[in-house]
Parts: sequence; structure tokens; C-alpha cells
Amino acid sequence: MEECIFCKIVKGEMPAEIVYQDEEVLAFKDINPEAPVHILVIPRLHFSALKELEDSHQELIGHIFMVIKKVAREQNVEESGYRVVLNCGPDSGQIVHHMHFHIIGGRPLGPGLANKKA
Ligand code: AMP
Ligand code: ZN
Repeated sequence: MEECIFCKIVKGEMPAEIVYQDEEVLAFKDINPEAPVHILVIPRLHFSALKELEDSHQELIGHIFMVIKKVAREQNVEESGYRVVLNCGPDSGQIVHHMHFHIIGGRPLGPGLANKKA
């Protein structure tokens, strides 16, 4: 996985504005933010996408959601609200193939989840 840009951030080989880190998880600012708050939360462990998760990763996923909650509070969007997005696979528009959650907030995001109706 030497070409994975998020693995490079994990290894400190690529710069990122890190807002939270622990032994399992890293959170950093999205380089091309779509809202005033746009943070990516990733496991240090490489998975290309959600489809690769196994039963043994349940604890990690639970931990990631606790980190998402903590980061949202620290970014002052806990009360105003925010959206958590995980893209998986081609139709989702996933471009970085190291599983990551987006935390997006700091402005009203509107009612829709996708750009067009079914
Ligand atoms: P996705 O479409 O879910 O794969 O989104 C990938 C996200 O990663 C996009 O919002 C990009 O702006 C963001 N991104 C790509 N490269 C970097 C980087 N080096 N540092 C921070 N964010 C990045
Ligand atoms: Zn990776």
C-alpha cells in the first residue's frame, strides 16, 4: 500500500493538519473543504473501503465513532449539527481508497443526501 496517500499521512510522510490522533485513529482537515468544518477520520490500519471490514474490526469502528463525536465537539459543531459521510465504491464517488469518514459542518447543509433523485 505504498501508494496510498492516507497511509503516507499516517506514516508522517505527507503533511496534514491533524486535529486528533491516537494509537488507532487519525483525524485531519480535508485539503479541499466543502464546508467551514470538513475533517476526515481514518483508521491507521489500511482498508480500501467499508466492504473490506471484518467482524474483528467492530471495536475499531465503534472507537472511530467515539472519535467522530469528540472531534465534532472540539470543532464546535456538536450543537449546530454536522453530517458524517462514508463513501464506498464507484457510484459513491470514493476517490481515496483508504476508508475514511467525512465530518462536514459549520453551515446549513440542506436536506438532500445525493445530488439527484432516484
Ligand atoms: P472521497 O470522495 O470520500 O474518497 O473523498 C476523499 C477526500 O480526501 C476528498 O474530500 C479530498 O479533498 C480529500 N483529500 C485528498 N487528498 C488529501 C490530502 N492529502 N489531505 C487531506 N485531504 C485530502
Ligand atoms: Zn492506506
